[in-house]
Amino acid sequence: MYDHRKLGRELGLFDSDPLIGAGLPYLLPAGAAIRQALESYVAELERRSGYQHVYSPVLGKRELYELSGHWSHYSDDMYPPMKVGEEEVVLRPSLCPHHALIYRSRAHSYRELPVRYAELGGMYRSELSGVLGGLTRVRAIQLNDGHIFCTLDQVADEARAALDLILRAYGDLGLRPARFLLSLPAADARIGDPASKYVGDAESWDRSAALLREVLDEAGVQYEEAPGEAAFYGPKIDVQIADAAGRESTLSTIQIDFHQPARFELDYIGADGNKHRPVMVHRAIIGSLERVIAQLIELHGGALPGWLAPVQLVVLPISDAEEKYAAEITRRAVDRGLRAELAHADEGTLGARIRENRLVPYQAVIGARELEAGQLAVRDRSGSRYAPAAAGDVLDQLAAGCRPAALSEVRAGRPGE
Ligand SMILES: [Zn+2]
Repeated sequence: MYDHRKLGRELGLFDSDPLIGAGLPYLLPAGAAIRQALESYVAELERRSGYQHVYSPVLGKRELYELSGHWSHYSDDMYPPMKVGEEEVVLRPSLCPHHALIYRSRAHSYRELPVRYAELGGMYRSELSGVLGGLTRVRAIQLNDGHIFCTLDQVADEARAALDLILRAYGDLGLRPARFLLSLPAADARIGDPASKYVGDAESWDRSAALLREVLDEAGVQYEEAPGEAAFYGPKIDVQIADAAGRESTLSTIQIDFHQPARFELDYIGADGNKHRPVMVHRAIIGSLERVIAQLIELHGGALPGWLAPVQLVVLPISDAEEKYAAEITRRAVDRGLRAELAHADEGTLGARIRENRLVPYQAVIGARELEAGQLAVRDRSGSRYAPAAAGDVLDQLAAGCRPAALSEVRAGRPGE
């Protein structure tokens, strides 16, 4: 595996500045292209899976996190509140409380459930500067978050569908989970005791753990139980990844929560006309963008899957005579949604320019023959060559080939439908 900090700088993906601060990296244009590809990928995957996207502010009043329980159970990781007049506002440590309030803002009938909200949004963690580095330990996190509000009967199907989404996304990203964990409360947890790390009642915790265990068993994935790793409000499935140094961290997660729906007094009107409390399922499919980008760099080096590559096609005119045609081909590729660049003839010999662009998935060399015939001859970064063909057809094929598999297939329906 590669070191993402070293490669990130060499490939011009991200950097940091002491004046912005430790743990606050920024993305350069090539890194931003990867992030955009990931964001639109996951948004489309979610849209097809019945999620609705929302946007919510990265700040909230201190009272919001007191109500959610973060203030008393998570404040070590939170930034101190900022005083604004008589109010105190806090950078949010998670998106859950906002989504609970969005759910609460409208009345819901059992017929609409499950309600699935997704948001790729910022959350903030006051890590000490000694542990910060690269994209893996940061103070500002962009999380691919989502919350499902559903009946108790729907929880297992929703958790199963979330696990299915995680596995499909890992396929498209070429990610390999290091381990699956069923994260449970510590063995000596006195759940429900006011002094306990964990909120709620023991019965709900047992029920959630049993549901998650059932989902993992049915999916046929090997997992380990991890006592003491649960969230303060419930047990969870954690998908662990390992970095180049072998250190494990959680990328994706599925959590069952009875606590926040009670704290926020969420309800829906049941078939009996009475109010009932929904269950909240928290899930992150590709986790935080910082962590997933770091993992992708460490796994693939600079040779990312075609649909994620910052530049997907490089067009290389052999001489000045083909420059104009090469520029036109580049523009037509960009119009088809490809990230294409022109490597000008005056930037070096053809061999040097090919070496310079060796990580780009597709290279099109344009000589007198291609110019005359209006054709394109493409080779990929493994060295395979494709037969020359009409330029428009080749570009159409490349654009189709640069789509992730999960978005290319048309599925009959979601699990549980
Ligand atoms: Zn959440």
